[in-house]
This record gives sequence, structure tokens and C-alpha cells, in this order.
Amino acid sequence: MKYVLALDEGTTSARSVLFDSECNVVSMAQREFTQIFPHAGWVEHDAVEIFAMQLASMTECVAKSGVSPSEIAALGITNQRETTVVWDRHTGEPVCNAIVWQCRRTSGICEELVRAGLSEYVAEKTGLRIDAYFSGTKLKWILENVPGARERAERGDLLFGTVDCWLLWKLTGGKVHATDRTNASRTMLYDITSDKWDERMLDILGIPYCMLPEVKSSGEIFGFTDILGSQVPICGIAGDQQSALFGQGCFESGEAKNTYGTGCFLLANTGTSRPEVKNGLIVTAAATLRGEPVQYAAEGSIFVGGAVIQWLRDGLNIIERSSDSEALAVEAEDNSGVYLVPAFVGLGAPYWDMRARGAIFGMTRGTDRKTVCRAALESIAYQTDDLIGKMREAGFPLTCLKADGGASQNRFLMQFQADISNIEVVLPASPEATALGAALLAGLTVGVWKDRDYVREKLGGGQRYLPDMDAAKREELLKGWRKAVRACREFE
Ligand code: ADP
Repeated sequence: MKYVLALDEGTTSARSVLFDSECNVVSMAQREFTQIFPHAGWVEHDAVEIFAMQLASMTECVAKSGVSPSEIAALGITNQRETTVVWDRHTGEPVCNAIVWQCRRTSGICEELVRAGLSEYVAEKTGLRIDAYFSGTKLKWILENVPGARERAERGDLLFGTVDCWLLWKLTGGKVHATDRTNASRTMLYDITSDKWDERMLDILGIPYCMLPEVKSSGEIFGFTDILGSQVPICGIAGDQQSALFGQGCFESGEAKNTYGTGCFLLANTGTSRPEVKNGLIVTAAATLRGEPVQYAAEGSIFVGGAVIQWLRDGLNIIERSSDSEALAVEAEDNSGVYLVPAFVGLGAPYWDMRARGAIFGMTRGTDRKTVCRAALESIAYQTDDLIGKMREAGFPLTCLKADGGASQNRFLMQFQADISNIEVVLPASPEATALGAALLAGLTVGVWKDRDYVREKLGGGQRYLPDMDAAKREELLKGWRKAVRACREFE
């Protein structure tokens, strides 16, 4: 029996998951790390703490598994995307806290880029919209605001990386400065068609080339690390959403997954043909193995997904646990004409409306917590349906929707999604789709698994939800949702 270890470095915690060669989870450990909010709208992490927590979870995961480190054939890394780290190549010290993907501090820089007429160029080269979400302007901010950073970077003393790259550099004792294409494609600095750093974007943002990591495929040998005395190859790296796409077995063009976590991220594999940036969707590199041509995915990001259920729990205190939402929603029987638009931080794809704020419409004297709870869960499915619609319009007809993430455990939500989108929704056999993606990339690279077809069989499938709503009812509900979104945006 061979084992594959995945490091799943998320936004709030560092997890490690050990899989056996049947893709079963053997052991898991997790450490939370500090969220730093220095100003309104700013979010930072301490990269040194992230590495320490990742290492601690990895050691605990392996130690408690009872598996000998010499039986671990491969290590994969998946990570929160876009978060930006800059460190000194000689001392390994970060020059400042990592700037997290959620951080809005570079909105002003982005507005200038839009005013300078660069939107089309950015879309064409990088597949992205100009937004503070991506790494490029975060890196520019560090070079301009950390004393001495620009001079040190130009002298070749500083390195840039997303979190995968930082972990790889630390795990290899500073020997390897590399990243994978899926992470590079989230920087707004990478030309996803010619598959290289884009010199003009680097010029525009004033970024010295010598800081940038080498870009490799997601499945290839990046380097080696010591796990309790054994040398293990690090041979799989992918950003969390692309990793989940791979872990869900969406290997072919047209296969799509939606992760129902804090936010929701719908990605559709488009194979080797690069889609256009349109309909509020962006384009991102999908994970591939060494030697394979570049593959792409169309992506839609929803900022508030499962987080609306957290708000019912922590903000309104109308449920005790997120999972209580299911029974309440079922008790409500129908939505009674009530719609909740959870635009708490604006609306993401496909609206990209930063100024919108949340609202509940259609309440009467009879509206109670059951109805609000149902409206909250339904809002997750309506937002996902908006993206499915945009995907269909853009020419990616989804035949089935693979779901994962915390809120995919909610049976009411999954059935409502199937009904409202008239699509079959399928859950994976293993709830650890994100970590599994990195493990599969690593294991396929060193031959733990023969090929994708072999892996696909191992993945199997979990619960399936078939659509069961008549077309008239669906249209009536969707009409109400569209009206609610319009009214909510009108209030700005
Ligand atoms: P992340 O990786 O973004 O931290 P997870 O995939 O762990 O997110 O999912 C957590 C989110 O899912 C939370 O916002 C939580 O409210 C929601 N959630 C978890 N379980 C349920 C459930 N049974 N019903 C609805 N929402 C849920």
C-alpha cells in the first residue's frame, strides 16, 4: 500500500490529509491561524505562522496515522489563491504580512488601471477582470509601501509567491522557487495563452522579473521535502478551486463543479480551448500533468454562499448550528414569496456590483424564522443558478453539477438546486474534494495511480439529486429572484 499526503492550506486553517491508494482518507489534522484586520477592508496573514501551522498539522497527521513516512510516495499542495507573500531569499523572512485575497486595499490602484483603459488588455492576456482580488496589485502595493522593498527587489534579494510557492520554498529548505500554472493564472501577471509571465503587465505594475517563481504544470516534481526522516517528492500543486475541479474528476471539457463553502465557486472545464472573458465569468488555468497542453476553466465566484447560513446563526441567532437550517427550511414548505439577496459585501459574478447591500423582500406578518431560513438557503441556489445560466449562454452547457464544500451537506439545498436549475446534482464519495485533487495530481505524477481513467473509477460517486419541479413553478420562482436582485441593486 502506498500513501499520498495533501497539504490543504485554506483561508482560515492549514489542514493535512493522508490518502491511501484507494483514495480513502486515512488521517487528517488541522490548525487554525490568525486573521489580521489592520483597517476596514484589509485582511492579512502571517506567512511564518501559516508555515508553522502547516508543518504542525502535517506532522500530527502522519504521526497519528500509524503510516511509516517511507510509505508516503508523494506530497501535493493546494492553497487559498491570490494571497501574496514577499520574502528575503537570503534570510527567508517575509518583508510584511501576506496580503490576503479578500483584502480590498488596492481598489484604488485597480480603478487607475481601468481608467488607463487596460481592462481589455488584462482580460485578453490574463483571463481576469481588473480587481483587487488578484495578486498583481497587492505585489505592487508591497513594493511601494514597505520601506526599501523596491530597491531590495531590484537587487534580486526578494522573492514573490502565492502561498503554495512560499510553502514549497520553505519545505525544500529554500532550494525551489516555483509555482504551478493554476496559481500563476490568478496573479493578473500571467499570460495564460502563451503560458508565460506577461512583460507588459510587469512593466505596468513595476514588478521586477527576478522576483517571480518558475511556473510548472500542476503535476510534476517540484522538489523534495523531509517528512520525519524520509525524503518525499512534492509533485502536485494547484489552487484550491482548480484542485477541487480535479478532485471531483472533472477532467473533460464540459464537466463542472460548484464548491458550496463560505462563498461559492463554479468552475467548468473547457479543455484546451480558451473561453472569452464575458457574461461576468473569468477564465483560469485548469490543473494538468507535466507534458500536457494548457487547459482552461470558466469560473464564476459568489462571495456569500454558506456564509449566509453563518449569518443566520451568528448574526440573527435563529439557528444554533448551520445544519439546523435544513429541517427549518423543509418545515416552511414553500418560500411564501420571500426572497433574501445576501449582497453583504456587494455581489460577485455575474453582477460584480460592489455597492449592492443585502435585503429581504416580500415579508408579511406571517413571515417567521422558518421562511427566512428557507429564503437564505434558496439564495445560495439562485446565485449558483445565475452562474449556470451565464455558463450556458457562454456556450458551456452543463450536463450535471458536481457539488462539494460544507453547505453541500444540506439535502434541502441540493434538491432545490437540482429543481431550480433543472440539472442533476451529484456529490462526491469523499467530502475532501479539494485535498484529494492535490493528492491525485501528486500521485498520478509518480505513478501511485496509472492514469485519469483509473482514478475516475476509484472516485465513484455519492448522493445524487434529480430535478423534480415543473417548468411553470421554476419560472415563477426565478422571476421572483430576478425581481429581488433588481430591487436590491436599485437601493444602492
Ligand atoms: P470554507 O472552506 O470556505 O471555510 P466549508 O466548505 O468548510 O467552507 O463550508 C463552511 C460553510 O458551509 C459555512 O459558511 C457554513 O455556514 C456552511 N454550512 C456547513 N454545513 C452546512 C449545512 N448543513 N447547511 C447549510 N450550510 C452549511
